[in-house]
Amino acid sequence: MAPQLESFFKQVDDLSDHFIERLGKAVAIPSVSSDAARRPDVVRMAHFLEAELKALGAEVELRPLGKQPDNPSLDLPPVILARYGRDDDKRTILVYGHYDVQPAEKSDGWNTEPFELVVDKDGRMLGRGSTDDKGPVLGWLNAIEAHQVAGADFPVNLLMCFEGMEEYGSEGLDALIEAEAKLFFKDAEAVCISDNYWLGTEKPCLTYGLRGCNYYSIEVSGPAADLHSGVFGGTAQEPMTDLTRVLATLVDTNGVIQIPGIAEQVAPVTEDEATLYDSISFTMETLHQSLGSKTTISEDKKKTLMARWRFPSLSIHGVEGAFSAPGAKTVIPAKVIGKFSIRTVPDMEIDKTNELVFKYVKEQFAKLDSKNTLKVGALHTGNWWVASPKHWNFSAAAKAVERVWGVEPDYTREGGSIPVTLTFEQATGKNVLLLPMGSSTDGAHSINEKLDKRNYIEGIKLLGAYLHYVAVEPMQ
Ligand SMILES: [Zn+2]
Repeated sequence: MAPQLESFFKQVDDLSDHFIERLGKAVAIPSVSSDAARRPDVVRMAHFLEAELKALGAEVELRPLGKQPDNPSLDLPPVILARYGRDDDKRTILVYGHYDVQPAEKSDGWNTEPFELVVDKDGRMLGRGSTDDKGPVLGWLNAIEAHQVAGADFPVNLLMCFEGMEEYGSEGLDALIEAEAKLFFKDAEAVCISDNYWLGTEKPCLTYGLRGCNYYSIEVSGPAADLHSGVFGGTAQEPMTDLTRVLATLVDTNGVIQIPGIAEQVAPVTEDEATLYDSISFTMETLHQSLGSKTTISEDKKKTLMARWRFPSLSIHGVEGAFSAPGAKTVIPAKVIGKFSIRTVPDMEIDKTNELVFKYVKEQFAKLDSKNTLKVGALHTGNWWVASPKHWNFSAAAKAVERVWGVEPDYTREGGSIPVTLTFEQATGKNVLLLPMGSSTDGAHSINEKLDKRNYIEGIKLLGAYLHYVAVEPMQ
């Protein structure tokens, strides 16, 4: 039998002004985690959430995380661990979100004050953090409140983990999650993260995969100092020449990675997986629009989505030490460092991929027969993640989407990484679901970030409905 949700839904609608006001209060706290000067605001945001959670009757702890590794005089903001409900007869669901935001200044090009929530005539709620991730975090609190006002039973025990350093590498979080896996998170039977976006603007999605990222540097050095080409051109072997020749061997114009052994590691597309792509609401026109050009590798929707989500890609990002200003400087750089990364997918292994990359780069350099020196290394690595979209956590969420939005969700992956997803999965051993609230045009990290009022209000219903469905979904 479908859960009784009408009174909850009605309360969400009735309380919508109050919920928007709550988001306004949160957006007004400029909790920018990357800016040391804003750290008191990040902490203030934690206390704001603590007070709101306590007022709703949740048990709340603020966990200190120690000092910031790259700035030892600075305390990391606390992680909020909260629990709502202790009923042995109910399932326990763990949710994650973050209360810090990206930097924002009006002078960056915002049309409104970034730390003031402005609702425009089209129902766009503009403000830093509106969609990433204060709207979704408050979504959980609002769902609790709407149940209380409606006098409706809350369907699960809810564990909440809200961090304040997500936009600055989630410093300290992994260790806390691992330490609490058998303590605070012990009862969790499934995990839900609302911190990503729909693929488009009209159709909700459930996200079941993320690519990993291995980031590399290739350093080529020769002369002791930068040289002038009028004096030394033609006399010394040039590091920049060697580097560009090596970089040029990594990938072709159509994105095909040239490093042997990479493609062989990629899991084949199964029939089940291929069918997930057919119904996905996505057009090449939208992609051309977001690219601002028609320079796509393929004209085919399915191939394009697969290339973005489930096949690896290699991007060359830049060259440190190279002349890059306008004008015609005749320098010969003495040392240049090329940067590139590979977005990784199942079943690529980090160590094996590193080995293949190092071997290939060294071989390509050796072919040049250069007297310069080459060093290749990995700057950082992070693994891919993929969950089973057939898990009961996902089927429950799919029913909630149908109930609230009246459509079956798309099953999507993302080309980027949300490292905490994998940490939760590995530490708790439970299925993790990504359940987005906002849409593709929200501009999470850019100017004029917004969350549509409709996505916020229906999103609160969705998070609440998900908890009802996940409370009763057969575990198989
Ligand atoms: Zn986020």
